[in-house]
This record gives sequence, C-alpha cells and structure tokens, in this order.
Amino acid sequence: MTRIASHRGGTLEFGDSTPQGFIATARMALEEVEFDVHPTVDRAIIVHHDPTLDATTDRSGAIAGLTEFEVKGATINYGAGGHPLTLQELCSIFSRSSVDFRCEIKPGADGRPYPNFVPDVVETLDRHGMLGRTTFSSFLVEVLDLLDAETDRPKLWLVSQPVLHQLGAAAVIETAIAHRIPEIGVHVDMADAQLKTAVQAAGLDFGCWAAHSAQQIEKALALGVKVFTTDRPSLAVAIRAQKSKEQD
Ligand code: FE
Repeated sequence: MTRIASHRGGTLEFGDSTPQGFIATARMALEEVEFDVHPTVDRAIIVHHDPTLDATTDRSGAIAGLTEFEVKGATINYGAGGHPLTLQELCSIFSRSSVDFRCEIKPGADGRPYPNFVPDVVETLDRHGMLGRTTFSSFLVEVLDLLDAETDRPKLWLVSQPVLHQLGAAAVIETAIAHRIPEIGVHVDMADAQLKTAVQAAGLDFGCWAAHSAQQIEKALALGVKVFTTDRPSLAVAIRAQKSKEQD
C-alpha cells in the first residue's frame, strides 16, 4: 500500500505547520507526518517550513536569529491562533499516535546547513521516544551525509526538479548509491513509470512529494510509489480508501 504523509501537517487544510494541523494529522488513517525543523539562537528546535517567520506568521526575522521565546510569540497565519511548535511538543502530540515522523532537515536562510544541527535533532527525537519512528529527508546530499554519520534511521533524498533535470535519472541514482541513500523522492509531476522502474532496478525506493490535487494524488496511487506527501491529507485518505474499496 502506498503510504500517505501529511505535508507540514496538511497545509491546505489546516495552515502551514500549525498545531491544529498536527493534532488533526495524529488522528488520521495515514502513515506519516512530514515537517521541517530549524534551530533558534538558544538551540531550541522549531517545527516550521520557512527559515524565517516573515511569510507565514505575524512576526518577522530568521528563526536562527531569534530565541525560542520570541518564535513562540509568533501567531501562524490561518493557524487558528496557534504558535510554532517545538520539536519536543510535536513529539508529545504523536507519542500515542500510530502516525510516524518524516523529518526534513532544512538549511538556513542562506541555503547552507545549520552548523551542528543534525546531532541536536537526532538527540531530541531520541530523548522523546520518536527516533525509532522517524525517517529523515533533505534536498541536500550534504545533510544526508551528516545524518548518515549520526543515525541508522532511514533517509531519503528529495530530488528537486532542476537537479533531476540537470543530472538526469542515471546520475541521480548513482549519486544516491554513492552516498548510501536508500530512497529518492521527486515532485509528483516529474514521476513516471520509467523513472520509478529505473530507481527500483537500482535497489532504491521511490516516492513522490507535493501531490496536492486529486489528480496528483490519484497519479501517485496509480504509480504505486512507496510514499507521497500531500497538503491535503484528508482528501488523500479518502481517495486511497475509495480506490481500495473499488479493488475489493
Ligand atoms: Fe518539507
């Protein structure tokens, strides 16, 4: 069965990385919750997509330049008055849920990995009982290398459209193997049976991201990818349930 990952807690249904979205996701009939993490200046770990608060909250500034207290003071747009969560808070929301973590390690606003951040994330997940239920992801091979040095947990490479376009499928697969990356994910619009077959023939898992419309969700399910992320988790759960009913 293709796994569904609620992207940022279901952005199109609940707002971007909101407490209400994560609480709702923890109760859904799906397998994973996708989220992104950034450090504060006092080394708290914040669950938020962008490296800054500017676009999605009533505050501004780079998370890495603010304290946890300052970031927690921001109100998320379309988030029912909610404030950004710490990774510790996210762990407690999911501690009794069957939904597992898909944790994306983000770079800073300058596009570079945060110094010494990966060990903090791994340690925090471990301390709060979620490391054994976490898959990691990143667009940066450099970050996946750092993860490989830190943990045996599964990891996947989010291959951007320009990277796939410039390298081509064969070089992407070669790079993944050379860096001990067992899974790649591409934008759903770039996915097709040929690419999936080539990735799987190399012994790698294949998934998709950004399946937000019904059509994109249906495509990911029809391709039979391992997992896809979606901003509309309720819709994806309903479509998958309907399809499995039709097959019975
Ligand atoms: Fe992400």
